[in-house]
Amino acid sequence: MTSERELRKQLIRFGRLCYERHLLVAMDGNLSARLPDGSILCTQAGCHKGFLEDEHLVVIDPAGRKLRGRGRPTSEMAMHLACYDVRPDVHAIVHAHPPLSIAFTIAGESMARCVLPEVVLTLGTVPTVEYETTGTQALADKIRPVVRDHDAILMDRHGAVCLGRDLLEAFCRLETMEHTALITKTARDLGQVRELPTDEAVKLRSMGLKRYGGPPSAVARADDPGADLPEACLGCSGCANPRPTGVGPKANLRLARVVAEPVLAAPARRELEDVVLEEVLRVLGEG
Ligand SMILES: [Zn+2]
Repeated sequence: MTSERELRKQLIRFGRLCYERHLLVAMDGNLSARLPDGSILCTQAGCHKGFLEDEHLVVIDPAGRKLRGRGRPTSEMAMHLACYDVRPDVHAIVHAHPPLSIAFTIAGESMARCVLPEVVLTLGTVPTVEYETTGTQALADKIRPVVRDHDAILMDRHGAVCLGRDLLEAFCRLETMEHTALITKTARDLGQVRELPTDEAVKLRSMGLKRYGGPPSAVARADDPGADLPEACLGCSGCANPRPTGVGPKANLRLARVVAEPVLAAPARRELEDVVLEEVLRVLGEG
């Protein structure tokens, strides 16, 4: 078990790394680690994570009461405590503001997709939790059921929460998320985001959960078809074209219905064509 002395050093080191890797700026983000006695070591509210000193770290109990340290604990304390509460296997949390990943949430683009094989293998997919005011119990309540099944999540318009058995693992998940966002955005800029075929995604995820572990709830489902993959991945046949946000099998079905409707209702279609033709003629006449 890692000592408090060592965890303090790690928290300072990973805070600086988050800043140097452009995963947060100014007073953004917060980091924490579970101490051997079950209390939580976390960053102080309102300090710069790139320039952390030992005095910027605070120890709290699992109910959020300050035990040791100067200043107030992080304003996102409730979020950290909710994660530790639902995931006894988690011993470290990194919350940062990775810019590209956040841009995906602002653009309404989901990152819960199977695009990169190694990411599906080691991390699975990254869900986005709907918007809630930062630093509130309401936000902690919203992420609680999601972190039960995921090691890395995005909060709409806000940032990432990455969990790990230690700080290195939590940090790796944050880096992986932002790297995936960069590659996905670049592919989109170049023309298209081709997702993995369903069969391959399912195989990779099952292998990954058995080989590298993950949320206990997901590991327990490693042999189930699709394990913890979302519907969007399971409904994809490795499509060549990017799909708009939220388009899954259900939306595809809706699209198929729209396409099929004119065929099924030929008289209605002719009626519509007559209306369009009339309108075109009217506009041309006016011109
Ligand atoms: Zn934040």
